[in-house]
Amino acid sequence: MSRISDSELLEMARKAALRAYAPYSGFLVGAAILSRDGQVFTGCNVENASFSLTTCAERVSLFKAVSEGVQEFAVLALWASEPTWPCGACLQCLAEFAPDLRIIRLGEQGEMEERNLSGLLPSAFYLER
Ligand SMILES: [Zn+2]
Repeated sequence: MSRISDSELLEMARKAALRAYAPYSGFLVGAAILSRDGQVFTGCNVENASFSLTTCAERVSLFKAVSEGVQEFAVLALWASEPTWPCGACLQCLAEFAPDLRIIRLGEQGEMEERNLSGLLPSAFYLER
């Protein structure tokens, strides 16, 4: 299996953003999460008239992967016209499976940036299992 590059992953996230359902904010976000075994799951934000029911692209990609039996992740790529990091809710969900996840982002302008999940959410909530 060929290794997927950061730029390929960001391009998949950009294409996913084109499928965003964001009639209220107009903020199109795409995510592509790469599993440790080389699979990619994409997601886009899905808004709702009842705003609190809106789901971010990151969680859509994560839940798609988990629902397909994949729980180990290496990289999350995020694309939006204005570069963004995952919100707190998404960081918490990602921390459940990959506390040291590498996160990269890109927007229409500028260079790719990179952070680690534990740097963005240093005090994630965990329960003993
Ligand atoms: Zn979010």
